[in-house]
Amino acid sequence: MASVREPGYFDEGALVSVLTTQPLDRTLDYRAPEGGCVEGAFVQVPLGPRQVMGVVWGPGRGDFDISRVRPVTRVLNVAPMREEMREFLTRAAAYTLTPMAAMLRLATRAPGLTDPPSMRKIYRLGDAEPARMTDARTRVLDVLASHGGAGFTLKELCDEAGTSSSVVKGLVQTGAVREEAAPRDVAFPRLDSHRPGKALTEDQQSAADRIAEGVRTERYGTTLLRGVTGSGKTEVYLEAVAQCLRKGRQALVLLPEIALTAEFLNRVEQRFGARPAEWHHGVTMTERRRIWKMVGQGGAELVVGARSALFLPFRDLGLIVIDEEHDGSYKQEDGVLYNARDMSVLRASLCGAQVVLASATPSLESWANAEAGKYARVDLESRFGDSLLPEMKAIDMRKERLETGRWISPTLRAEVEERLANGEQSLLFINRRGYAPVTLCRACGEQINCEHCDAAMVEHRFLKRLVCHQCGETRPMPDKCPSCEAEGRLAPIGPGVERLTEEAQAVFPDARIATLSSDLFSSARALKERIETIAAGGADLIIGTQLVAKGHNFPLLTLVGVIDADLGLQGSDLRAAERTFQLMRQVSGRAGRADRPGTALLQTHQPDHPVIRAILTGKEETFWQAEAETRRAMEMPPYGRLAGLVLSSTDAAEAMRIGTELARHDGAIRAIGAQVFGPAPAPIARIRGRHRVRLLVKAPKGAPVQDAIARWLGPLALPKDFRLSVDIDPQSFF
Ligand SMILES: [Zn+2]
Ligand SMILES: [Zn+2]
Repeated sequence: MASVREPGYFDEGALVSVLTTQPLDRTLDYRAPEGGCVEGAFVQVPLGPRQVMGVVWGPGRGDFDISRVRPVTRVLNVAPMREEMREFLTRAAAYTLTPMAAMLRLATRAPGLTDPPSMRKIYRLGDAEPARMTDARTRVLDVLASHGGAGFTLKELCDEAGTSSSVVKGLVQTGAVREEAAPRDVAFPRLDSHRPGKALTEDQQSAADRIAEGVRTERYGTTLLRGVTGSGKTEVYLEAVAQCLRKGRQALVLLPEIALTAEFLNRVEQRFGARPAEWHHGVTMTERRRIWKMVGQGGAELVVGARSALFLPFRDLGLIVIDEEHDGSYKQEDGVLYNARDMSVLRASLCGAQVVLASATPSLESWANAEAGKYARVDLESRFGDSLLPEMKAIDMRKERLETGRWISPTLRAEVEERLANGEQSLLFINRRGYAPVTLCRACGEQINCEHCDAAMVEHRFLKRLVCHQCGETRPMPDKCPSCEAEGRLAPIGPGVERLTEEAQAVFPDARIATLSSDLFSSARALKERIETIAAGGADLIIGTQLVAKGHNFPLLTLVGVIDADLGLQGSDLRAAERTFQLMRQVSGRAGRADRPGTALLQTHQPDHPVIRAILTGKEETFWQAEAETRRAMEMPPYGRLAGLVLSSTDAAEAMRIGTELARHDGAIRAIGAQVFGPAPAPIARIRGRHRVRLLVKAPKGAPVQDAIARWLGPLALPKDFRLSVDIDPQSFF
């Protein structure tokens, strides 16, 4: 009698195809192990002399000598990959033109998945009565008794009882406390979704209701949640999280500057009574593995994380929130080139989840999708405490008198002095790390460049070093010119955040000045502590880079001065206007909270530039409409499609030759009505010693770009040492 096989189950010995994390670009056949295995099972399989990890992808292909097919070594003790997740990886791979093995690596970024479950010691109440009692011993036993049999780690128990570990160990010897080994990967504390949240305004409540309604349907949908700083966006989407948890489904909140989420995690804890799982590269390896496993088993209800958290194996994902959805860090720029915002929408559509894209200054893509009715849109208008948005003004730098090597205009200086006199904080913003962007020799006119890249070395005076911002190469600041060896003739050109600090110290000698730039802090914790000190009034004047634009609250801050509002408008980047607009609006939004109205002053040489005018007038819809019009006329994203190709090699001429060949044989691209531009040297023509040649594919909206590119590149056999990266929907053009 033939056995009735459940779909997706393979009996021992059946042929299965396994996708491994090895760069093979196809699945391999194996035999199901003793006890059989299910589709999606994580397995260990032999590959040559090694054991590698993989996932059972389906029935075997049978295209390999059957007698030589080896059995699966073992099935790993983790939840199988769900069909929805396999579909997500397959579709994401097709969209980004990424090999499946690389997608699987992205989805298994937890160490030790093949290890047996690791154990740790936990402590519970024992049976014996200790012969001798002390206060400390009583406290330990009370803590254990009052938690109804729950196990504690040594540290938890000592902290809670306020004792040293020797007290606990002593109790273990008497038998009053039991020491046990327990699996390390334990579930996260339950979040209480029924706890009342913060009182919401009418506006916020109706926004929260609309999004929660979507979550309740358990169907796919995306909502653009637009609201200025302080409008209560977070409270609103946390209501959606609550609704999702009440449905018994999991939620994911992605944040851009993940190292700086302490404030956010505290808010979640206040709202739900426990901390969520936290996923980013600052998290320990053991914790990563715990999160990965618990997400798959349903032992983690809410994950707060960086973009890669999107590839965690959620058991039942019901909501994805992308906070600051316009942020450039959602695009991974190396390895697998994906945009977590767009991939979130894909994943949600496959698992019946809602997506909330939250931002004060949405990306044009999301704005256009809302305009077209693909996304719902919810706007939050009022700010907490009825405070107003800052007053925005331009300082026309053509009319200001400034010495060379100085950047704080007399007008801005007077405003800062007024704040200092009133005991209020000011922020001077410049989006450039280091002391000066360029170092020039006054004797021979040579600029100091990186040896490996076509980029200037940037002086970092605090470190007394030159640093290449492209490849990270660093060397001590030389005394003499590397070209002509003239001594003492090297001069900094232009301002960076460190140089601005120096100027501020000279101009405001009595002010307490704090400089905030990502490279000045050894750890995320040190930076976080500094920010907290400043927020509490520990500085009068903050000098900061882009870092300060992201979500930190400085309640005493009433003035923001943007040193160079024109900086982002230079260059030919498609998104220059959009990015400048977003950044300026965000930085300005730092000024003024609650009862203190704020002012934002933009130093500019082009006060009549349309982007500067849009920032000043605050007419955001007008800006987006104008920007949308421009892009539509050029058939540029989101009204057309782009793909960027970068060919790199140590051989510049050969890279250009191959690029030219590609451009010449562009039939597959033309067949879909698209065009190839280039080849041309990339804007940064050399990085880490590799020459870079760029081609750009521009296609009409809706054209099957990926298929065409796959057909176009199919016959291409790259010589050794050549690399080709394809970036679908590129965000930057370097
Ligand atoms: Zn020189
Ligand atoms: Zn370099």
